[in-house]
Amino acid sequence: MQDEVIRKANSIIANTYKRFPIVITRGEGCWVWDLNGRRYLDFICGIAVCNLGHTNRNVVNGIVAQMEKLSHISNLFYNDMQVKAADILVQKSFGDKVFFCNSGAEANEAAIKLARRYSYKKYGSKRFHIISMENSFHGRTLGTLSATGQKRFWEGFEPVLQGFIHVPFNSRKVVEEKIKEGVCAVIIELIQGEGGVRVADPDFVRFLRKITEENDVILIIDEVQTGIGRTGKLFAYEHFGIEPDLMTLAKALGNGFPCGALIGKEKFMNAFDIGSHASTFGGNPLASSAILATLNTIFDEDLLTKAQKMGDYLWQGLKKLKENFSVIKDLRGMGLMWGIEVSADAEKMVQDFFEEGILINVTQGTVLRLLPPLTVTKEEIDIFLETAERVLRKY
Ligand SMILES: *Cc1c(COP(=O)(O)O)cnc(C)c1O
Repeated sequence: MQDEVIRKANSIIANTYKRFPIVITRGEGCWVWDLNGRRYLDFICGIAVCNLGHTNRNVVNGIVAQMEKLSHISNLFYNDMQVKAADILVQKSFGDKVFFCNSGAEANEAAIKLARRYSYKKYGSKRFHIISMENSFHGRTLGTLSATGQKRFWEGFEPVLQGFIHVPFNSRKVVEEKIKEGVCAVIIELIQGEGGVRVADPDFVRFLRKITEENDVILIIDEVQTGIGRTGKLFAYEHFGIEPDLMTLAKALGNGFPCGALIGKEKFMNAFDIGSHASTFGGNPLASSAILATLNTIFDEDLLTKAQKMGDYLWQGLKKLKENFSVIKDLRGMGLMWGIEVSADAEKMVQDFFEEGILINVTQGTVLRLLPPLTVTKEEIDIFLETAERVLRKY
């Protein structure tokens, strides 16, 4: 039956994804089941989306209760769920105002548009460049693709949007040179997720904060992957002792309900005025109920503390593996976001994990990426570590 679904998928669904050869039909916590009833330990979490685990009861109940009342009403009207979701986001972050949308790319698209508009209103039309990092990933729309500092994603889609300056990650010197050339914003991921789980140098981040502030350049932090507890804090910027001007969120924001948000300081957010940007679905009552339930659960169940503890436990285990297996070249990450760089065939290793019933993935060809839910238990981490030992022994 599973093979039949896969065959059908390949014939009628656009061919944009390389997929594991299973059909997943059910999930609970850290576990998912395929159509044949086989169970897998899920250390991908829908790519850092189901941070509270699959079918979290609070999120399910929140969405279902909202669906019984009102699913969608458009932004022609106020909706109280959107206000509640925004309220908790501004309370728990540096931001004053929120724009809701439906994905990470859309949140970054909104940030790019807002940065340009702020600069346009204050300095005129020539100051529109945005500095972004090499090896970054900001999304697949043409705007965010242009921000993305990996040319391989551009192939066949050029010309991309003009006005992006790509600089080496962690290089102060190049930013210093470029920032005066009509730049309105800098966009950065504090941990490059798709780019191989690379953590920004804290000195570089503090330098960026200072130089952007001095030049009235907007600092945009893309927290689409690192946000919502992934690193053990609600937002990754909290580890770096700085506050951005704008931050983008999506992935785990609704624990699987598709949604995104741009959050920022009032001074910048006010560059959006009536009619300047919009989204039909953005912040609709259903999405807002998912955001509210997700964030409330994180605080009510103290999941940030749990994520820090489990992240530390996982890191201790990974360090031991690195000592014992020379095939591990580097370990990078924070909280429950880890990259294991290997000097062997990483795709094949992922296949081995898959055969052992554990789901992880690869980025940049050589980095195994681990993204377990914040609710992962010690026992589940032990299962991963024991399996990793068996897999690594073969390389
Ligand atoms: C996933 C991701 C995006 C794109 O999000 P989509 O919801 O797929 O559009 C943007 N930035 C980062 C850092 C991401 O990890």
